[in-house]
Amino acid sequence: MGLADLDPQQLEALAARTTAAYAELQDRKLSLDLTRGKPSAAQLDLSDELLVLPGAGQSRAADGTDVRNYGGQHGLREIREIFAELLRVPVEQLLAGDNSSLSLMHDCVSWAVLHGVPGVDEPWFGRGVKFLCPVPGYDRHFSICAHLGIEMIPVPLGEHGPDVAQVAELVAADPAIKGIWVVPTYANPTGAVYDEATTRALLEMPAAPDFRVMWDNAYALHHLTETEHEPLDVLRLAEEAGNPDRVLVFASTSKISYAGAGVSFLGASPANLAWYLDHAGKRSIGPDKVNHLRHARWFGDAEGVRAVMRRHRALLEPKFAIVRSVLQQRLGELGIASWTEPEGGYFVSLDVPEGTAARVVQLAKAAGIALTPAGASFPYGRDPRDANIRIAPSFPAEAELTEAMEGLATCVVLAALEQQGAVSV
Ligand code: PMP
Repeated sequence: MGLADLDPQQLEALAARTTAAYAELQDRKLSLDLTRGKPSAAQLDLSDELLVLPGAGQSRAADGTDVRNYGGQHGLREIREIFAELLRVPVEQLLAGDNSSLSLMHDCVSWAVLHGVPGVDEPWFGRGVKFLCPVPGYDRHFSICAHLGIEMIPVPLGEHGPDVAQVAELVAADPAIKGIWVVPTYANPTGAVYDEATTRALLEMPAAPDFRVMWDNAYALHHLTETEHEPLDVLRLAEEAGNPDRVLVFASTSKISYAGAGVSFLGASPANLAWYLDHAGKRSIGPDKVNHLRHARWFGDAEGVRAVMRRHRALLEPKFAIVRSVLQQRLGELGIASWTEPEGGYFVSLDVPEGTAARVVQLAKAAGIALTPAGASFPYGRDPRDANIRIAPSFPAEAELTEAMEGLATCVVLAALEQQGAVSV
């Protein structure tokens, strides 16, 4: 029976139970954290062979390169070959960088602002550039825009991407829109997976030559079920659409090996790669090839990466099951919340009654449960409905996660009851 169907007596009983549960929660003086999508220590342990690789005397790559020295701006061929297969990007069009793909994204947007991109020989700076931001989305994408003075326009994200008719209309109406953020596989935080039709439409729609699709495939290999969505070979699709330069592909091993010491990747058209390499050559004399070599030795081949991902899945799947089961048991019947059931990635996106998300986060904080700030998944931190909360289950141990989710459910019910005037805390 939903909250709206309860008679006054039932509502009163629920209010009494929930208030008591919340008081008990506060008494427990918890210190739990559901904020960031970090791998757990057990996940990091999976890659600990990396700590002894490549090993003393092992400094030569397959082509004889001494990985300890400067140079090799493209990154080591052997690690690029492995990820070319996994990401479906031709190896000649894939660079391996340092540890963070977010840095690559930041570099690309900064250099576009300072110098422009292939297609229009004019910096974005001073031209009132805007980006489309499918929402809910990844807060750090939005931080890059905010930091570089790029105005953000939210567009709703559906199960298979945004409504491209709406995107195309916005882009046609405003030539200052120069980009869109896309997390194509198991999007952060909803788990949406872009389908080929949406992707083709994004690549085919009329847009300025310096419009870029920031294709951040951070979770390309991060399956949680038997349904393993294959990455789209988006560079080929862009070529077929007649817009080979429209898309920049990003990925990394942050959630495959080490979040702080993995390898990042950039896939792009020949013109975009030449542009990137030109600017990157001013910024650094080459990426960390020792890290490339140890990763290549450890993975061995693409199948080696898939094997590691299966071990991650074994650790993550039970945690996502806990989130699902607590939400279902505690909130399912009341009909006051909806949540995503992702087939991969690192997040669950929870929608609570409109106007209560910030209050839920506040109640949780007062009970020792840290949640991502309400609105974090929206540009400028503003969720116009104040309804969305991002749950990141990967880091806490299962017992802590269960406790945190139970506590969160109590806070959701309490905030909903408060909104109805059934309780006041
Ligand atoms: N993109 C998305 C969508 C992410 O969720 C994250 C990590 N939370 C990143 C990029 C960060 O990638 P990296 O560690 O390679 O900088």
